[in-house]
Amino acid sequence: MRYDAFLIKYAEIGIKGKNRHVFEDMLVSRINNAIHPLSGSFHIRKTSGRIYVLPEGEYDTDEIISALQKVFGIAAICPVVQVKDEGFEKLKADVVAFVDAAFVEKNFSFKVMCRRTRKNYPLDSMEMAADLGEALLDAFPELTVNVHEPDEFIYVEVRDTEINIYSEGVAGPGGMPVGSNGTSMLLLSGGIDSPVAGWMCAKRGVALEAVYFHAPPYTSDRAKQKVVDLARIVSAYSGRIKLHVVNFTDIQLAIYEKCPHEELTIIMRRYMMRIAEILARRDGCQALITGESIGQVASQTVQSLMCTNEVCELPVFRPLIAFDKMDIVEISKKIGAYETSIQPFEDCCTIFVAKHPVTKPRLDVIKRSEARLGQEIDEMVEKAIEEAEIIEVFPE
Ligand code: ATP
Ligand code: MG
Repeated sequence: MRYDAFLIKYAEIGIKGKNRHVFEDMLVSRINNAIHPLSGSFHIRKTSGRIYVLPEGEYDTDEIISALQKVFGIAAICPVVQVKDEGFEKLKADVVAFVDAAFVEKNFSFKVMCRRTRKNYPLDSMEMAADLGEALLDAFPELTVNVHEPDEFIYVEVRDTEINIYSEGVAGPGGMPVGSNGTSMLLLSGGIDSPVAGWMCAKRGVALEAVYFHAPPYTSDRAKQKVVDLARIVSAYSGRIKLHVVNFTDIQLAIYEKCPHEELTIIMRRYMMRIAEILARRDGCQALITGESIGQVASQTVQSLMCTNEVCELPVFRPLIAFDKMDIVEISKKIGAYETSIQPFEDCCTIFVAKHPVTKPRLDVIKRSEARLGQEIDEMVEKAIEEAEIIEVFPE
């Protein structure tokens, strides 16, 4: 079946009062970015609280839907069939044809909802709904009517020049349009957690930059490529990501040489946060994002998180903080990152990891150890920032 339009329903951005149009315009722009690379040409129309994607010429319905399912801010995508008013008998046949094409299994309960913006239509909305419902029951005996809690609504809207027929359609990803809530710097490692953390913040409208710390030759180019690949997977949802690749080798070696080995990870994490914050401020990001989760490893006990957090003044978003690993893995699979995340390339933390890391670090002790790094460490930090490689990552 050929659909004439895709009606975009959005939920949360509808409650933004005076700012509503800003959110709507942003959503239109994100939709534009998502469908631009597809085959076919499209036109987007925004009218009274509704956005329509209107294909012109050939297009692929599945392709459009799966592209729109990555656009945060969309609650549902409803493929719409538009027909001319050629009498009610013809409309009945059109509605039956719509249900036939839109649903593979015809064993659900439904309610027909009719609206007329053109009031001179010969039937009123109640009569239309009753008669169309009957036509559907005749055509598909396994359907049932349920006016209170139907599985599916079938909408029929008589407008001035055409009649729209559509159903609830398919669910969108929810959330808010990316860019409607500032920009944050994601600390992106090659693991399972940080891509999920970035995706979750993007879902709330946060645009992303990312920083990856690598330690050549202790970490390979493959490990770095894996991070670029993960950034690309996240960018399918968040849009373009500016990825900063920071060479962390000298800093890591200095810490390894001068600080107690059981404190290595904490001190290293503090330097990552410091550098991430400097990069974030330089690019106008308002917050940092990490994939940390309470108790997952020694460096993520509450005491460790307190020590890591202490170096930052910007807010640090840790959307996974109270998630179990299982639940993180589930999201990772859903967004298509898991298979890449589990590729076995060492990240810079595993090389320098101590046998018995502290799990209850004391801030005063950590600070005293850091003092041993002297002034040279500041120079190393400066150099690492200056020489950071920047990779612009675009969705595929
Ligand atoms: P992940 O699965 O995201 O790698 P993890 O369980 O391995 O997390 P840690 O290695 O303790 O946890 O790192 C905690 C968080 O610190 C990560 O989620 C990430 O945000 C950040 N991080 C760790 N290593 C790096 C790195 N090499 N580059 C950038 N960020 C990092
Ligand atoms: Mg990691």
